[in-house]
Amino acid sequence: MINDPVEHLLMTLYTMYQWGEPAEKSSWKGISHSAVTQAKNPDVEETTYQPRPTVIFSEEKCPFAMPVEINKLPENLFDLLGAYQVKNYNTKGTIFLYEACIQEIGLLFYINAGRVLRMSRSYCINLVREIVLWHQLGHWITHWMPGKDHNRWNRKSYLYNDMSKDVHEALAQVFVQFAIQHIEDDNKRNHFQIIFHYLLHKQQKYYSLYNQLLKHPRFGWNNLLGAITMLRILENPEDVTIEYLLNNLTTN
Ligand SMILES: [Zn+2]
Repeated sequence: MINDPVEHLLMTLYTMYQWGEPAEKSSWKGISHSAVTQAKNPDVEETTYQPRPTVIFSEEKCPFAMPVEINKLPENLFDLLGAYQVKNYNTKGTIFLYEACIQEIGLLFYINAGRVLRMSRSYCINLVREIVLWHQLGHWITHWMPGKDHNRWNRKSYLYNDMSKDVHEALAQVFVQFAIQHIEDDNKRNHFQIIFHYLLHKQQKYYSLYNQLLKHPRFGWNNLLGAITMLRILENPEDVTIEYLLNNLTTN
């Protein structure tokens, strides 16, 4: 796995599934080049790397009192430990990571399970942080990243509200699974899955709906990305449903 978790997810999507256009909007000395080339050239300014979202590490105090049991945790952990904020749907959003909360949850996992599994405290915290980052990156990818068809989500149909939360959270979790399942190292991949499922404990049902996609008989990453492409060209927010995604899981 590439060391940088953002790069791991974005470059896997690009190299294996032709999602994203890391070269299209960036140029270095007037030459269009791939994100790989760009990554190897540190003198390329970050600001020229258009397709990558801004990630802000917030030092705000953890807003919830730390319970000693995972059962007592808030039911929307994935979006409490991090956030994807958009000013309006026509512009890309910013990812926030709430470091104090991430440290607390990483520590809780370490105490409850990590140390028995011989994981260090900092390792547990790092894995929690990467999972939260991938979840928020999942929101950014679905909203803003150009697909294989070079389109983003149609701004008429992109709407995050109580009605569409199931689709948005299912997709954010799907991209966490995408990132985890594309880790080559068996040990590390297993550790990520253990922590991901630990975080899922007692979470709102939206955060487990990704299973309907991954366990569908027609599931395959290409099929799913194709279904997301179909979903994003819709014009009516009311048509944006999990059922629509499931019905469009095909190779066509
Ligand atoms: Zn979310």
